Amino acid sequence: MSRLYLGCIADDFTGATDLANNLVRAGMRVVQTIGVPNTPLDQSVDAVVVALKSRTIAAEDAVAESLDALHWLQSQEAEQIYFKYCSTFDSTPAGNIGPVTEALMDALGSDFTIATPAFPDNGRTVFKGHLFVGEVLLHESGMQNHPLTPMTDPNLVRVLQAQCRRRVGLIDHRCVAAGEDAIRARIDALRAEGVGIAIVDAVSNADLLRLGPAIRDLRLLTAGSGVAIALPANHGLVPSPQASALPAPGGSKAVLAGSCSQATRAQVADFIAQGHPAHALPVETLVSQPERHGEIVANALAWAEQALAQGPVLVYSTADPDAVKSVQGRVGVTQAGSAVEAALADIALGLARLGVRQMVVAGGETSGACVNALGIRQMQIGPQIDPGVPWCHAQSSVGPLHLTLKSGNFGSVDFFRKAFDQLQPSVSAV
Ligand code: ADP
Repeated sequence: MSRLYLGCIADDFTGATDLANNLVRAGMRVVQTIGVPNTPLDQSVDAVVVALKSRTIAAEDAVAESLDALHWLQSQEAEQIYFKYCSTFDSTPAGNIGPVTEALMDALGSDFTIATPAFPDNGRTVFKGHLFVGEVLLHESGMQNHPLTPMTDPNLVRVLQAQCRRRVGLIDHRCVAAGEDAIRARIDALRAEGVGIAIVDAVSNADLLRLGPAIRDLRLLTAGSGVAIALPANHGLVPSPQASALPAPGGSKAVLAGSCSQATRAQVADFIAQGHPAHALPVETLVSQPERHGEIVANALAWAEQALAQGPVLVYSTADPDAVKSVQGRVGVTQAGSAVEAALADIALGLARLGVRQMVVAGGETSGACVNALGIRQMQIGPQIDPGVPWCHAQSSVGPLHLTLKSGNFGSVDFFRKAFDQLQPSVSAV
């Protein structure tokens, strides 16, 4: 087993993939796990990202889950721990960024860590401790209206201090611009003043790359996914095709679309317009007559069994907003969502049994349901298809398969076709 340089704890699933993708692009081989595994890592990698769903649960539960993840990462001998949260610092005065950070510091015996959600490639920059989203401050970005974590103060020192017992300080832009030695000196000065956590300014990738070597020795880092671009270099790793190499692909190809977002609707329409076989789920029936679930799944699979011979197939519930509203009006949003997710998840498993080994899933919740149905617990992260969306390789209950999990609004209009095209030449056997 080679060294596990980085053990990451992500507070949500797509955030975990985003972080894993950045690490791979910067040269690390990475596995993402779904929740805290109860078995050791099944392959040798440079970093592992444990995906939790702890962003908006009660702070004490988030702490408990994060500590579970930490203990597993320690059992795998992870050398540095990275707590990943959203690049808009999604939290409330009750947490969970502060309480989880402090619990991890306590458990690691760490007296100092950094906190920066800066991700300049995604328009998230921090200047004088203030978080900007694109051109505007956090509290004018729409995040002030978030239903669960409204962000009404862009001053991250103040925001984090309200969640922490330890003192929170700042490593400002002038210091970061001066480079590694200045940052190290500032960390020493903050430590001497009794500051335990410092927000770090960063307005460009160059800032993050200057920060990287200065935080090499911290046991714990806390950040969005941006800081990840600077960490592989601390171990002599550089971007390389080997970091994203996956086993050679095989088997049949299928797309499952359960997202109704604008981008996915355009992708579904484009794929159909290209002449690929497509099967629309009878969502009205599925939702209003739950007893017909099995029949609807069986029909979709019988159709797919014939169609798979012609190349990639699409099974979708994707619909326009009026159709979605009408279905939701009948049984409620949650029940409609779960009925469709359950059908797509059973179809995903059925498709794998029919020999599908390259699977594209569109939709965040839909992806979660399909991954569970397929019994997937760990995914190796491969090459990026579009920003934030990599191919992955996983052991499912049916056998090994390549899959990509696309958050609804991600990806270009030709994403489905592009994904399959890209997998063929770019992935070499390892
Ligand atoms: P996104 O990433 O775009 O948010 P998700 O998969 O997370 O996609 O969420 C889409 C939700 O909508 C899921 O719960 C899914 O089951 C549900 N859904 C999908 N198609 C329909 C439909 N035609 N009518 C009602 N709900 C639907």
